[in-house]
Amino acid sequence: MRRIYLDYAATTPVDPEVVKAMSSFFTDTFGNPSGTYSHGQEAKEAIEGARVRVSELIGAEADEIVFTSGGTESDNFALVGVAYANQAKGNHIITTPVEHHAVTETCKYLEERGFRITYVPVDEYGLVDPSDMEKAITDDTILISVMHANNEMGTIEPIAEIGKIAKAREIYFHTDAVQTVGHLPVDVDELGVDLLSLSAHKFYGPKGVGALYIRRGIEIAPFLHGGEQERRRRAGTENVPGIVGLGRAIELAGQEMDKEADRLTCLRDKLIKGILERIDHTRLNGHPSMRLPNNVNMSFGFLEGESIVLNLDLEGICASTGSACSSASLEPSHVLSAMGLSSEQVYGSVRFSLGKWTSEEMIERVLEVLTKIVHKLRAVSPLMQENRQ
Ligand code: PLP
Repeated sequence: MRRIYLDYAATTPVDPEVVKAMSSFFTDTFGNPSGTYSHGQEAKEAIEGARVRVSELIGAEADEIVFTSGGTESDNFALVGVAYANQAKGNHIITTPVEHHAVTETCKYLEERGFRITYVPVDEYGLVDPSDMEKAITDDTILISVMHANNEMGTIEPIAEIGKIAKAREIYFHTDAVQTVGHLPVDVDELGVDLLSLSAHKFYGPKGVGALYIRRGIEIAPFLHGGEQERRRRAGTENVPGIVGLGRAIELAGQEMDKEADRLTCLRDKLIKGILERIDHTRLNGHPSMRLPNNVNMSFGFLEGESIVLNLDLEGICASTGSACSSASLEPSHVLSAMGLSSEQVYGSVRFSLGKWTSEEMIERVLEVLTKIVHKLRAVSPLMQENRQ
């Protein structure tokens, strides 16, 4: 059975071109970049090359990029680093209830340490209203953190508008762009952000490596302490092969992004339309047009998303309920709940996320298999029986 992978938002396979670029840095150019011998210096040069590539794709300067172990570390670094470095100015942080756990759990951690967090609500599409953000600002506000696009239901937030407000009020602005960098144009000046998180394994790079963009002049406390790597902003021997992979992946993404976004948008819309037409009692979650080109999140009435995902897996199709991090637990999605979905709609949701190796033929097969599965499960669903009576 040919596997159909539709969980690219959780992680992507590494592009063979990226593997090729990385390989010599494991066994050949393996020197420590802090070493003064040429072997170490070659590794150092490779890191600096990757830094330039990352900075170019997001419209930043190379020295504004700090390599990290991925999106989670970048988010933690941004929030904790800014909070600790600026607590003399204030203790208030504004965010939304639909952020990734890497942000919401960090906010909880800061709350336990005396910071005050305001969660500005989102509408039924998961969109935050910039004017609500503005209203939440107080004299103590030091940071706003809003994700660029949501990993579960794909909605793209009005970052540039919030950026203007943050700038006018002289408040630092962080965005978690883990789902957009490498997929959509991202420019830190156009978005008006001071800090931006990205992660390589979401755009065909390796896992365990990412970056935090930190605008020059931003006051931020280091998150990891030790050596002097990354201009003393992130201690620890650099993950050289990972960083080289990130650099190559972002370079490829820059070349392919526009075409790929158009192609995926067509496939995404075909899948959405197909589900809505073929299966009744279904609804699309997230914004209908302001959404990631590769995200389809649907609720299936009278069913649990979990059983649909298990049945799809038996047919060789990988999809997920909620985000990769929470799908191992049976906690209902905090994102869909914050959008006001009923618990039935939340539990009945499934996310399909498309990518580089998704074809039209695969979408047709998914539609065929999914329709059969939903009908089969509904035939034995007690909720469906109740509805019929
Ligand atoms: N932020 C968002 C929006 C994500 O989708 C993810 C990964 O699922 C993360 C942060 C965490 O990134 P990483 O897996 O690189 O730690």
